Amino acid sequence: MSATSSSDNLTVVPGKARGAAAVSFADRLRPYVWTLRSGLRTMRFLFGRFPRECPVCGYKGRFFAYANPLALGINIDSLCPRCFSHERHRLLVLADRAQALFANKNILHFAPEHGLKAYIHARQPRGYTTCEFGGRGADLDINIEKIDLPDNAFELVVCCHILEHVDDHLAIPDLFRIVSKGGTLIAMTPVIEGWDKTFEDGSKQKTEDDRILYFNQHDHLRFFGGDLRSRLRSAGFIVDEYTAVEPDVSRYGLIRGEKVFLCRKPEA
Ligand SMILES: [Zn+2]
Repeated sequence: MSATSSSDNLTVVPGKARGAAAVSFADRLRPYVWTLRSGLRTMRFLFGRFPRECPVCGYKGRFFAYANPLALGINIDSLCPRCFSHERHRLLVLADRAQALFANKNILHFAPEHGLKAYIHARQPRGYTTCEFGGRGADLDINIEKIDLPDNAFELVVCCHILEHVDDHLAIPDLFRIVSKGGTLIAMTPVIEGWDKTFEDGSKQKTEDDRILYFNQHDHLRFFGGDLRSRLRSAGFIVDEYTAVEPDVSRYGLIRGEKVFLCRKPEA
């Protein structure tokens, strides 16, 4: 129902209209004051608001604020100053604590993150291979849209915040192909749960400003909606989900409702 619907019981007082002409100088100043105050408050908390715990490296203390310089927004209490973990890495480690994802598995890890790499090593996997497009700092140079690896090669594939950067219609079937039967793909990516359908539009991927405006980061190509699940299922995966609730969300500095998608390849 619109705010001007005839059923609205609004009383307009002459001389009190909130039109542009009626806005005082103090009113016009107010949003600047509010925003400056928000900025100053954010600056106060750049190096932490509350003590937290990092399940990746065991650090206890304040996490730092983090913002990708080529994105919008800033997360307070986001970055572990010891292992550089973000919220998603700490959530994945909680999923591992609950389901023993890494121990005794032959693992392929895309774009390996510093802290997570050390954590997985310490779980004593049966095999652990890292890969990166371009190969920098990793064991293999792999293009996730055209994976040059044999079928059924890995029991566990870790793919954390990559699918939003690439053509997932190419990547997901190829990931399914390289996961062994009964094995698992760990997929994490930003998902707008309020959207049934992924937003992607080739005309809005062309410039850095458009990608920041529509997808919130200079190198993102889409915002997944709830249909991420059907995209994963259509490749053949059985999709399970893990999320954390309180008190773990506050204790470990997590994003409320963030999901780890545990995508299992059927045995047969
Ligand atoms: Zn840490």
